[in-house]
Amino acid sequence: MKNCVFCAIADGSAPARIVYSDDDVVAFLDIRPIRPGHTLVIPREHHADLGELPAELGAKMFAAAQRIGTAMRRAPIDADGANLIINDGRAAFQTVFHSHIHVVPRRHGDRINLAKGMLLRRDSAADTTAERLRVALGAAVEGR
Ligand code: 5GP
Ligand code: ZN
Repeated sequence: MKNCVFCAIADGSAPARIVYSDDDVVAFLDIRPIRPGHTLVIPREHHADLGELPAELGAKMFAAAQRIGTAMRRAPIDADGANLIINDGRAAFQTVFHSHIHVVPRRHGDRINLAKGMLLRRDSAADTTAERLRVALGAAVEGR
């Protein structure tokens, strides 16, 4: 869709640190991460919100988010767990109207860091973080 930044990322016309992609979904680092490794999973097709999203495509997004959330625990990005979050609709703080799942890495006892991260929303080593996730995801694909 024209003027949709996530469509532009999906078709390669806008830059993003892509960590995973297949025929149906693309996953890339959030430009303003709550924690380093904060990833967004989007469908390649434009669907504004859950009301428009075909359930089969939602299942593919979830499968990718599941794979990424588990890979985060293996990647050297300091994660013991993950929050999978969907902000659906303006009332729920959706700001980009191309449906997406946030995968936010979490660590035991990270509440203070998380609060800081929500204010700062920056990863000064984002290229390294992306590469670490790609490697962990690659290993997952190969079944290691
Ligand atoms: P929402 O509130 O809609 O669930 O979240 C949208 C997310 O997209 C935000 O966390 C925001 O930082 C992220 N975002 C917005 N524009 C861009 C962009 O151009 N590139 C990337 N990588 N992330 C973006
Ligand atoms: Zn779009």
